[in-house]
Amino acid sequence: MKAYYDLHIHSALSPCGDNDMTPNNIVNMSMIKGLDVIALTDHNSCANVRAAMAAAEGKLLVIPGMEIETSEEVHMVALFPNADTAEEMERILRASAPEIKNRPEIFGNQYIMDKNDEIVGEEERMLVTASGMDIFSVVDSVSKLGGVAYPAHIDRSSYSILSNLGFIPPELKIGTVEITEKSRDKMELDYNKLYNIVTSSDAHYLWDIAEKGRYFELDELSAAGIIERLK
Ligand SMILES: [Zn+2]
Ligand SMILES: [Zn+2]
Repeated sequence: MKAYYDLHIHSALSPCGDNDMTPNNIVNMSMIKGLDVIALTDHNSCANVRAAMAAAEGKLLVIPGMEIETSEEVHMVALFPNADTAEEMERILRASAPEIKNRPEIFGNQYIMDKNDEIVGEEERMLVTASGMDIFSVVDSVSKLGGVAYPAHIDRSSYSILSNLGFIPPELKIGTVEITEKSRDKMELDYNKLYNIVTSSDAHYLWDIAEKGRYFELDELSAAGIIERLK
């Protein structure tokens, strides 16, 4: 089967994510777009993942995820086989650096929601900030939990592995890179020799969620199967 995907979507938990990025709005918009699988990847937290998975039941597959900021200020997409392992990674990440309090009036609210889109809490620590884990320990820790981590939007001029390190260390054990739609055509030939390439939306607003375009060819649709593919 062709599994149409968007593996990089932010909810209202991300301070920069629109408050309309609720679990049900994200799932329903993804359905309208014709996607089969999405990942919820809020900055340094997976607190809305369970709600999105519940909202998606019987509709499409939601892979538990996070967009982790490493100590080098490199963004990495991390995907997990289930919510438990994603939450375990969030605990490891939180323990790696002192917490800074969010200032919602400047950076935006960080809403935690339930499966009915009710606001049930607000994350008080600042989520868009560097963790204490470097790229190597992020890849290693996520992998030990049965997940996969890969550099996000490598073509961007900030918060990317190429902008911040200048290159992808060959000893970094990754099988995938994310390249945005804008740069995919011109970078694809150079990178697909070494890596799988994933192109997702990095949506912070509902209308940014990917159109039905990029897909995986799979025997069976599962988080574990997609993670295996991206290792
Ligand atoms: Zn990012
Ligand atoms: Zn992002």
